[in-house]
Amino acid sequence: MAAKGAKILILGGGFGGLFTALDLAGTGEITLVNDEDHFLFKPMLYEYLSGEVEAWHIAPDYKELLDESVRIVRGTVQSIDLDGHSVTVAGQKQPLMYDVLVLALGAVTNYWNVEGAEQNALQFRTIADANRLRRRMTEAVDRVQPDAAPQDTRSALTFAVVGGGASGVELSTKMADLLRDAVKRRALRGEPRMIIIEMTDRLVPGMGEEIRKHVDRALENCRVEIHTRTRVARVTDRGLTIEHNGVETEIETAGVVWVAGVRVNPLIEKLPVTKDARGLIAVEPTLQLAGHANTFALGDTAFYADVVPTLAGTAQLALQQSHLCARNIHAFLNGDKLKTKHFVELGEAVSLGTEHAAVLSAGKVIGGPLARQARFAMYTARLPTWHHRLRVGASWFFEGTAPQPLQPLGF
Ligand SMILES: Cc1cc2nc3c(=O)[nH]c(=O)nc-3n(C[C@H](O)[C@H](O)[C@H](O)COP(=O)(O)OP(=O)(O)OC[C@H]3O[C@@H](n4cnc5c(N)ncnc54)[C@H](O)[C@@H]3O)c2cc1C
Repeated sequence: MAAKGAKILILGGGFGGLFTALDLAGTGEITLVNDEDHFLFKPMLYEYLSGEVEAWHIAPDYKELLDESVRIVRGTVQSIDLDGHSVTVAGQKQPLMYDVLVLALGAVTNYWNVEGAEQNALQFRTIADANRLRRRMTEAVDRVQPDAAPQDTRSALTFAVVGGGASGVELSTKMADLLRDAVKRRALRGEPRMIIIEMTDRLVPGMGEEIRKHVDRALENCRVEIHTRTRVARVTDRGLTIEHNGVETEIETAGVVWVAGVRVNPLIEKLPVTKDARGLIAVEPTLQLAGHANTFALGDTAFYADVVPTLAGTAQLALQQSHLCARNIHAFLNGDKLKTKHFVELGEAVSLGTEHAAVLSAGKVIGGPLARQARFAMYTARLPTWHHRLRVGASWFFEGTAPQPLQPLGF
């Protein structure tokens, strides 16, 4: 197939899709479809929640990142026809036809069918989600009367995070710091109550022991209340019910945030292709779909065998795969041999409250405020495009990255 006029359709503009488009620029006619008009660097959504970074830093518009050779279609993909080589998108009168398709639609929040969870819990995946959560926290603080007794402050400012993976730890420590800061600034009596709920017997199970020490210390310093071996039975608009050792307890909260895992994108669920047990597309070592040589899948939509297990479902993996994907699309269009790759861990970095972090890089772990700086530096380097990196790097360096307090909302 001639590379020059080939129609390359990329579904999803996250780590997998956007970076594939960036690498491919100049190859064929590229169309990128995404339901939002911006990319999102999800690992820094916690810093956006706390105001340490601004939306333009971590969620730049595609128009800023991609040159005019890439057509950007904003819309929700509705159906994918692999045999007919066409995709329907809400708001587009005609289906989009393609010669090469890239499936990079990511994952969706998994509520595990827990009663009331989808309706009542907040999710944490987008800029809008973070805005909603920040507003919920601010409203809760605003409701506390200046003369409230400590126990009333505590119950008004009870928040629960469901899921004790890295997301749960990063989110609960960030929220705890923000709430405590607001209580202090407004000279309220008492403390917020931040709860984290995890089904298994420990938080962040896949994390190395060295980095875990920093995590444990941060959770303690942020006074996050940890409930392991605990199941969420239901979520209501007033809080949640947890179950531990057969005993159910109701907890009233100002908000429940659900970060207890992801599941495959519903569009991928519908595709009649080879999948693994979790429903991810079992891609070939070249990222192609079995029986559909012109279709590639990566990131959270795909199961790729040659990878260290801890990398599954991470931005690190999607980013690394995007380079292989672009290279192989190029080879496919030019009739060259496609490559395979073993993907490795690039390091680990967790944000721990608004002042600290822990970073594992080149076998060494550092923690505290220095690790927070290192995390910012590490992530600056992973932002898309040199131009964006330079603008953001300069902004963080010269203007700083101090958190923004939860200011009263006013009327
Ligand atoms: C809060 C948070 C923090 C994270 N922190 C880390 C971290 O520190 N380190 C790490 O390695 N990983 C982290 N991850 C995981 C990481 O972000 C994902 O693994 C990664 O984004 C996967 O890349 P992807 O391209 O497959 O999907 P995504 O980056 O999610 O991109 C998918 C894109 O498709 C779009 N889309 C979805 N459905 C449709 C549709 N029907 N129509 C049109 N567009 C659609 C979405 O809007 C999105 O832009 C985090 C995830 C979250 C939510």
